[in-house]
Amino acid sequence: MSGSLPFGQTPYSTNGDLALVRGTIYVSPTEPPVREGALLIRGGKIFAVGSSSIVQTPQTAQLIDCTGLTITAGFWNSHVHFTERKWANAAEIPASELARQLQDMLTRYGFTSVFDLSSLWKNTRNLRDRIESGEVPGPRIRSTGEGLVPKGALPSETVVRMMGWMNIPVPEITDASEAVVESRKLLHEGVDGIKLFRSSPRSASLPDSALEAAVTEAHGAGKPVFLHPNTGEDVLAAVRSGVDIIAHTTPHSGPWDETILAAMKERRVALIPTLTIWKYYMRHDRISAQEQLANTEIGQVRAWVSAGGTVLFGNDLGAIDYDPTEEYTLMAEAGMSFGQILASLTTAPAERFGESKQLGRIAKGLEADVVVLKEDPSKNIRALAGVKYTLRSGNVIYRATD
Ligand SMILES: [Zn+2]
Repeated sequence: MSGSLPFGQTPYSTNGDLALVRGTIYVSPTEPPVREGALLIRGGKIFAVGSSSIVQTPQTAQLIDCTGLTITAGFWNSHVHFTERKWANAAEIPASELARQLQDMLTRYGFTSVFDLSSLWKNTRNLRDRIESGEVPGPRIRSTGEGLVPKGALPSETVVRMMGWMNIPVPEITDASEAVVESRKLLHEGVDGIKLFRSSPRSASLPDSALEAAVTEAHGAGKPVFLHPNTGEDVLAAVRSGVDIIAHTTPHSGPWDETILAAMKERRVALIPTLTIWKYYMRHDRISAQEQLANTEIGQVRAWVSAGGTVLFGNDLGAIDYDPTEEYTLMAEAGMSFGQILASLTTAPAERFGESKQLGRIAKGLEADVVVLKEDPSKNIRALAGVKYTLRSGNVIYRATD
């Protein structure tokens, strides 16, 4: 088991230079690793990276010996939720407890950037403010605020309680004019994107005109739109309405055919697979049904990756156990190489969300958001979940004790 960093006793600070030395460094998913590499951090940014024999480490620099360890850019998790009851009244939670919760869910797994795809925006903003003020160590948070759902689609209070979620007043919409009103309200309140749910077993599906209206508002503000699909038909509707990111695979409606894949490709959408969660929800069903579902979702990702499609890592944290190991192994089963999975965690989201000049790679001048892994994930993909240190802007925000 990993231990926690005692807060207030950060062992390494950004006051001086910090050097990670003698590690294997994956500077990006497409370049060969630097063996026996050194990474010099100054003022929270990457100052130099290269072979330990070339990079000059000032004598005053604090050193972290990374012998046998592997270094990558900080990870993005592009599908999380701050909806569990533990986040309620985020402004009032004691700092040490909040820090432990953020560590449990995110920083201990190397996540330095997350996109929250539906939560109580006022509350999530309070959480983000406490992190950004330096009071609590945590990741960079982007959020869509409350997702827009079709009228009548909300689960009952009993289900919400059983799932362990806060009871959140989510805006219900039926048509384009309501989509405009609710999207504008959220964008005015400063959200970083819009999240749409198109269908539910309990309601009529939203018409394309409502999806298009929300997309127009979001794009007008320069923000991306995410859609939660339940079926391949939902994916098609999202794509033709201009949605940017498909937030799940849809194994319950069978494999994606050429029409769906071609439309996704043509509109250059990105896909967040969330493979573990569908398996998790099926855990009480017959093994044969579980296997069929797993094969279908893995097949959808395989087809999308074969078509050259963009994948963003995301596992719907907040609705599922925090450990991402199974998500990594399922992505590998779908034929994704280590480089492709690393891209889904780093360069792909940084590019998609307009941050590639600051984040996503290890290169001079970029923010020193860095993950140090205990083992090399190119040899065993499960190693992506075995984090030794997590750094955000050169500050160690998580440190394993083993
Ligand atoms: Zn979700």
